Amino acid sequence: MYTPYLMCAYAAALLMVLLGFEVIRRSAPDLRGLRDLRRFILCGLCGLLLLALRLRAPAILTTVAANYLLFAGAIFLYCAAAEILEAGRRFLPWAVAVCAAALPPFLWFTYGSNSAAGRREIHCVVLAAIFAMVSITLFRQGRAGLRYPARACGWLANGAIGVNIAWGTLGAAYGRNPNFLHPDMVDAGFSYLSMIVALSNVVGLAWLSLCVHRQELQETAQTDSLTGLLNRGAFEEILRREMRRCEQSRSLLGMVLLDIDYFKQVNDEHGHLVGDDVLRRIGSALRVGTRPSDVLARFGGEEFVILLRDASLEQSEEVAERLRRDIEALRDLPACVSLTASFGVAVNLPGESAGAFLHRADQALYRSKRDGRNLVTVHRSAGYGSLSVH
Ligand code: GH3
Ligand code: MG
Ligand code: MG
Repeated sequence: MYTPYLMCAYAAALLMVLLGFEVIRRSAPDLRGLRDLRRFILCGLCGLLLLALRLRAPAILTTVAANYLLFAGAIFLYCAAAEILEAGRRFLPWAVAVCAAALPPFLWFTYGSNSAAGRREIHCVVLAAIFAMVSITLFRQGRAGLRYPARACGWLANGAIGVNIAWGTLGAAYGRNPNFLHPDMVDAGFSYLSMIVALSNVVGLAWLSLCVHRQELQETAQTDSLTGLLNRGAFEEILRREMRRCEQSRSLLGMVLLDIDYFKQVNDEHGHLVGDDVLRRIGSALRVGTRPSDVLARFGGEEFVILLRDASLEQSEEVAERLRRDIEALRDLPACVSLTASFGVAVNLPGESAGAFLHRADQALYRSKRDGRNLVTVHRSAGYGSLSVH
């Protein structure tokens, strides 16, 4: 095996990955981290080409610069992981410090003792350390929907750590006098493995970036931009899903629908921007007054809806009554307006459709409006005659 040929083959593989990346980057310019992943590939490509020039160019280029380009590439990989997960580059100074600390011994093993084994050990330690920073960043991420892809990428980073540690230890044990230009099977095998795990990390992080992007799009599509609560479309989807679950488990699902009273007056007297602020404030008051497990959404203009999992009619009514009092007591609303809201409460019936369930809650709300507002009305079962106002 002749190392310059091997390095050229690796460089050709990286060039192809780089071309693929350009296609992805141009078709999805919003993806986070792709710029740093591209820098990783470029650094790797230049580093490998410099390694291939061994004996044809000075050692400062083909040994020191080549290895430091590979280290810089690994740092860019870390930056890509941090950017994709918006984790902050808190390990960046550490990564740079590791590379800086490795420079004096690396120069010694290049110009002092000219030991390929010594350089290989440093190469493995530095890369293992930087991949450890990538791994910690990936395993630490806290967003629920991203746990699986982030952990999968974390294991790829762990694979890179493992390969570098194994190369360092096995290389020291079996290949005592490594010849860089004509590597033995241990060194050639590990350089190949190292290349494969590095590429798998790049592909993994590109996939993670896509997952993050998809999750963010989904969140935007489900969120009401004014209040930050779920929007009606997302609510109706959750309602259908919850009703199916309740049908199977025969559990109860409470619904509280509320509409702010005389809200048009707020707009008319203070303008739409104040009206918007009031809606935002009511949204946060409702969020504070409900549990994280409750599903809270802006149903329409000044209407909000809350789904209460495993809640009886009495419990749902209690929640509605508490929220009614909370809204009535709000004193720090924009333009010092004071507001009340009317509520409709219902609990799912066996075999009922989502539309019918919503309709019953709406009927109850309508009754609250008709009976004077600032009231909670409960729909006790199917049919108009079963409404009771509190
Ligand atoms: P009621 O007690 O019968 O519910 O009276 P209301 O004035 O609250 O109800 P109406 O349906 O007459 O008016 C609702 C108002 O809500 C009219 C509309 O301008 C306002 N509205 C709806 N969406 C928004 C919004 O996003 N921002 C603002 N500022 N106002 C909104
Ligand atoms: Mg209203
Ligand atoms: Mg309304």
